[in-house]
Amino acid sequence: MQRELSEVRTDLRPQAALVALPEHFDVLIVGAGISGVGAAYHLKKQCPDKSFVALDAQQSFGGTWWTHRYPGIRSDSDLHTFGYRFKPWTGPPIATAAEILAYMGEVIEENDLARHIRYRHKIASAHWSSKESLWTIIAQQTDSGDVRAFTAGFLWMCQGYYRHWQGFLPQWPAMETFKGCLVHSETWPEHLVYTDKKVVVIGSGATAATIIPAIADACAHVTMLQRSPTFFITGRNVNDLAETLRQLEVDEAWIHEIVRRKILFDQAHFTRRCVEEPDVVAKELIGVVRNCLGPDYDVAKHFTPKYRPWRQRIAFIPDADLFKAIAAGKASVVTDEIERFNARGIVLKSGKELEADIIVAATGFNISVLGDIDFVIDDKPLVFGDTVTYRGMMFTSLPNLAWVFGYFRASWTLRADMVADFVCRLLQHMDGIGARKVTVALRPQDQDMPLLPWIDPENFNPGYMTRAIHLLPKRGDKPEWQHNQNYWSEKDEIPTIDLTDGAFVYA
Ligand SMILES: Cc1cc2nc3c(=O)[nH]c(=O)nc-3n(C[C@H](O)[C@H](O)[C@H](O)COP(=O)(O)OP(=O)(O)OC[C@H]3O[C@@H](n4cnc5c(N)ncnc54)[C@H](O)[C@@H]3O)c2cc1C
Repeated sequence: MQRELSEVRTDLRPQAALVALPEHFDVLIVGAGISGVGAAYHLKKQCPDKSFVALDAQQSFGGTWWTHRYPGIRSDSDLHTFGYRFKPWTGPPIATAAEILAYMGEVIEENDLARHIRYRHKIASAHWSSKESLWTIIAQQTDSGDVRAFTAGFLWMCQGYYRHWQGFLPQWPAMETFKGCLVHSETWPEHLVYTDKKVVVIGSGATAATIIPAIADACAHVTMLQRSPTFFITGRNVNDLAETLRQLEVDEAWIHEIVRRKILFDQAHFTRRCVEEPDVVAKELIGVVRNCLGPDYDVAKHFTPKYRPWRQRIAFIPDADLFKAIAAGKASVVTDEIERFNARGIVLKSGKELEADIIVAATGFNISVLGDIDFVIDDKPLVFGDTVTYRGMMFTSLPNLAWVFGYFRASWTLRADMVADFVCRLLQHMDGIGARKVTVALRPQDQDMPLLPWIDPENFNPGYMTRAIHLLPKRGDKPEWQHNQNYWSEKDEIPTIDLTDGAFVYA
């Protein structure tokens, strides 16, 4: 479909003028991270007649694995389940960003997806017209500044959940007086020299736990400064079952499937135990840390969290590298609060001072709501926080759009694959009934349903989520209107969603 330049709404365009006529695709995928590349694969396989394009603001594919450049960057969940269900993972379970990018590169090459992906396209706005049943998307090229317009029948949002260009940096008093170098883990400077430097890493999550062992040998000393401790799991970076099956010369595709099932089975068991006997699990996890650090280490102070295991994602520490760095005296942990910065470093509430040449803020994310794209639905700006989610995939008053929002406790990609199946089935269903528009809407029986925050804070409550909960859609109290973060129920429910249910309104 070709439209005249004059037909494209000027108020949706960034300052520069459009450089070409809008291009039309049946489906436009936002993002070329693990979700976007997966969406492209599934669309090509399951809906081969659909034209599609994936736009990404970055210079290459990978999303999280492309933008994060801090030392040691690696997954914190296993790649058997973080990998796609359709492409066996044959490396060690915890993988570096480079290994994940190589794996995604193979997916793109083996399936001829490169010609469907356009990089350096930052999407600024998306406008839905019910009259035309069409999205108009305006993107600005990050290299040339050129503005391009696209039209699409369906928007597949694979933009992740956080801002890639700006991490969350709390504002502490007198930060500007620090004479050393202050960096955020999300925007790690390419040429940062930390050899022989005193480094303080603020944070206690997976990122801090990755950076510290990666730089500990080179630094003069590295200190992990945490307000409160975190749970960790440690073990060898090997999947014994996969190794055994490999010795038996079992086909890699089979190994992938069997190992995924085993990991998921074990995780379900572990999650159940976290809920049923949190104190026992906590004791076990802390006991492992104690074994690594020895009886004289103050595990009670530095590695005994106040929350129940699994309220926040538990990071896996391969080969106990963080604890080895601490035991070797190359790294240490301070559990305290920041009072203020000064020229030399950080003054703590206890009165102690931490001197530093470099301070690394591993302090988390800023949520990006729908990729920071301005959405307009039939001339009205969208207030995403006023919508209600259909299983965390679709949203009331947002037609022809699905969002891939994965799991926090299990691997993100497990859900990305399932959402992809759902979207392809929905598109086929729409073709079958001749519909050009689908919106989810509360049914009569849902009208009195209480509307609650996107995710139950009792269930999962990391800082980046609680800071932005008001910007995210509401959930109801029925399974259809919730993103329950439960792989085990969703693996049966999502494939059997009844697309003729009244929650789907077609036109
Ligand atoms: C350091 C780190 C480690 C992690 N480890 C794990 C792990 O081990 N297991 C796990 O399950 N999860 C992990 N996560 C969570 C992780 O982000 C997700 O699992 C997954 O990578 C998200 O993939 P995605 O493709 O949905 O989004 P992203 O990886 O965030 O990619 C989204 C892409 O969309 C693009 N985009 C966004 N907005 C726009 C726009 N307006 N215009 C154009 N392009 C846009 C971005 O440029 C980006 O390339 C980790 C996260 C981080 C930060």
